[in-house]
Amino acid sequence: MNTTHDVAVIGAGIVGAAIARELSGHQLSVALLDARDDVGDGTSKANTAILHTGFDAKPGTLESAMVSRGYRLLSEYARHTGIPIEHTGAILVAWDNEQLDALPGLRDKAVANGYRHCEIIDAAEVYRQIPHLGPGALGGLTVPDESIICTWTVNLALATDAVHRGTTLLRGHRVESVDVGPEFTTLHTTAGPVTSRWVVNAAGLGADVVDARFGFERFTVTPRRGELIVYDKLARRLVDKIVLPVPTARGKGVLVSPTIYGNVMLGPTSEDLQDRTATGTSEAGFEFLLDKGHKLMPDLLAEEVTATYSGLRAAIDHGDYLVAPDAAQRYLLVGGIRSTGLTAGMAIAEHVVNELRSAGLDLVPKHELPEPPRMPNLGEAFIRPYQDADRIAADPAYGKIVCFCERVTAGELRDACRSPIPPADLDGLRRRTRVMNGRCQGFFCGAEVQEFLDATPTGAVHARTTHPEEIAL
Ligand SMILES: Cc1cc2nc3c(=O)[nH]c(=O)nc-3n(C[C@H](O)[C@H](O)[C@H](O)COP(=O)(O)OP(=O)(O)OC[C@H]3O[C@@H](n4cnc5c(N)ncnc54)[C@H](O)[C@@H]3O)c2cc1C
Repeated sequence: MNTTHDVAVIGAGIVGAAIARELSGHQLSVALLDARDDVGDGTSKANTAILHTGFDAKPGTLESAMVSRGYRLLSEYARHTGIPIEHTGAILVAWDNEQLDALPGLRDKAVANGYRHCEIIDAAEVYRQIPHLGPGALGGLTVPDESIICTWTVNLALATDAVHRGTTLLRGHRVESVDVGPEFTTLHTTAGPVTSRWVVNAAGLGADVVDARFGFERFTVTPRRGELIVYDKLARRLVDKIVLPVPTARGKGVLVSPTIYGNVMLGPTSEDLQDRTATGTSEAGFEFLLDKGHKLMPDLLAEEVTATYSGLRAAIDHGDYLVAPDAAQRYLLVGGIRSTGLTAGMAIAEHVVNELRSAGLDLVPKHELPEPPRMPNLGEAFIRPYQDADRIAADPAYGKIVCFCERVTAGELRDACRSPIPPADLDGLRRRTRVMNGRCQGFFCGAEVQEFLDATPTGAVHARTTHPEEIAL
């Protein structure tokens, strides 16, 4: 196989996958590399999964523009691909007079960001819309278009689409060093060299390290951990919209939100760390969240906890996204996509392609593109295979439930293992199907689920290359 590409994209999170998809809409040979054995195994798998309107972004920033455009692009893409979204809306709650006084300014900020649908409501209306909210709220600001989405399906759809369009996916390829030549750059990876004319660095938490390989010392990534608690599905009756705090300089704060899988989540925390691999949860984090949760929604704390997790935001010492082309080295950095990259990813991809064009990359659109992939539905609000009598009649594997907590069928596990980008391990299978994500966390079905993976020749392969010509369209 030819390993000389026109563009190599480092990082197969949402941002890198979206960039590879956009680039491979053009007559280019594109490679998408990731250090890990799966796509979407970094920050993109562990966030709060809210499709943001961008109402609270800093007006005039690149982030503000990318979030509001990304909201529209991803909403539209979700319609074509079946990525589940629920337009729940959000209410930002003021708990003291200072926060109440901040609401008109936040509404004006939303307008400056191009979002005109926020309304200030009084405490009575807040409690009418969120009856289980804890006592003491003084008023609120509605954000009717904030939505919940499946972050895993977003990443997988973009990467699958990229591969269908011709991208070569190189998993298990950690870029360790770089040689920039007059015409080609060689990326020395843990699975051998990859050669490309242009390189896009979308390495998330590792973007500053890769940037340094190109001779720059312009920013440092600080992993900012966000821990979350996921409550049982029985808690879902308590809240049907996103309950937001008044944002602070450090971020969006702790929220209560329904999840697309039918649970309720509380979080995230915000803690700067040194260790870029510290995705564990902590006792201090839980205490902090339980304290916040007690004030926000005491009834929630009486519900069972299904799971806890944490993700690391790639915070940088720069007030905005850092997208910087370097024509001389045929290189482009995408850094600091801190807490809005799920929403903004597709818009960032458009922006990156325009920047590459200005920097000298020839971009000729392909005459024909395949249809976007139709993704399996993981959303609780939409019909799933076990509920679909016609589908079960046509293929009884969709009637055989393997994971009873999340109602995942043998047919879905089989499909995921045979998909264009099969899972590398059980966690990958979880993200593709919801299997083992429920109350028992795989205690009941874990062994049977592992058998599906073991029976899949491609299942546990490391350093796997997915060439587009392998895919039956
Ligand atoms: C707690 C939390 C809550 C959030 N909530 C939201 C939200 O509600 N809505 C929203 O829009 N956004 C949210 N975000 C932000 C969003 O998750 C991120 O902005 C987005 O996932 C970033 O995607 P990415 O592709 O840049 O990074 P990643 O998903 O981290 O992908 C980068 C990839 O690069 C790879 N890589 C790194 N170094 C190398 C190397 N040397 N060689 C090869 N590969 C490499 C990594 O393995 C990784 O897979 C949240 C983030 C967190 C942590």
